[in-house]
Amino acid sequence: MILDQNELSVFSKLISFPKDIVIVSHRNPDGDAIGSSLAISAYLQSLSHRTHVIFPSEYPEVFEWMPGAKDIVVYDLQAQLTEDLIKNTELIICLDFNSLERIDKMGLMVAASTAQKMMIDHHLDPEPFTDIQISVIESSSTAEIIYEILKSLSPNSVKNPIILDCLYTGIVTDTGSFHHATSENLFRIMAEMKEAGLNDTLIQELVHNSLPDKYLKLLGHCLYNRMELISEWNLGIIHLTREDYRLFDIRRGDTEGIINYLMMLKSVRVGILIMNQPSIVKLSMRSKGSFSVQAICKEHFNGGGHRNASGGYWKKSLDEAILKIKEVFPKYIAPVEIEN
Ligand code: 5GP
Ligand code: MN
Repeated sequence: MILDQNELSVFSKLISFPKDIVIVSHRNPDGDAIGSSLAISAYLQSLSHRTHVIFPSEYPEVFEWMPGAKDIVVYDLQAQLTEDLIKNTELIICLDFNSLERIDKMGLMVAASTAQKMMIDHHLDPEPFTDIQISVIESSSTAEIIYEILKSLSPNSVKNPIILDCLYTGIVTDTGSFHHATSENLFRIMAEMKEAGLNDTLIQELVHNSLPDKYLKLLGHCLYNRMELISEWNLGIIHLTREDYRLFDIRRGDTEGIINYLMMLKSVRVGILIMNQPSIVKLSMRSKGSFSVQAICKEHFNGGGHRNASGGYWKKSLDEAILKIKEVFPKYIAPVEIEN
């Protein structure tokens, strides 16, 4: 991976003496948001910086085992503390998101802060709200970029067991266990991590094989009662109603991975999961090949992400969201790729 040496040396100078540092990632934090944040926090603490990791909303229970997770500040639960920390910090590191809109009301606090600001991210179309921007869209995950940054600043740091566990969690979740966004660089990093003593199978158990019983019941419901396949568009849609949220006691993280089942079908090129969450209709989209779900999310659902994995939200009803998809979808269907 080619890192911008100028940006890297500015960062290196910024952290050359101990500071108060706030590390921020996006709402509904996933494994990459959490893993990247806790890894860079552990590294900065080893250099005697005082760090705080802050997320807009709570993180899923499957990540509670992660080193440092218990100290994470959640804006939804600790608004005043969040405001004080952002107001008084000297450096804000924004991880795994590219627009202030992704951190809800914390966006206003970050915008108003006089602290130095830095972004490390891999999403398309980053917005220029930071002084330093390390954006590598080819990267599998923010964790992969952080591995490269830390390795270049201090080769021994990426052998630290805590940093290894956190970065591996980010990589394994954002690549869907190495199903997508892989590269030669990533597999080289994996080899280095294994040589440094990474226990990857243990982390796979903790992250993927530790779900509550209700997960499979909800999955069965989604596939049997809530799945719609529109074969002429190679589109699969699963929706979840408010009633489903109540009946299945759906909480943060419980819908993670459901969309991947749509993508297992040969007939599906684009998969969409629409969730009527308590306060908003949230959409997750996945696609195969050249079809860009990022464009649909950006143009119609206040969102974005990557070409093959994006998300967004909708402020009207669930039914209207489904109608909107069906209305705009035909405009995005590119001519079918001819295979040789
Ligand atoms: P997921 O579907 O797993 O929630 O997210 C897939 C990708 O889309 C992730 O890279 C995530 O950061 C991005 N994403 C999800 N929701 C939103 C959103 O509301 N806005 C933007 N800009 N990106 C999103
Ligand atoms: Mn990510």
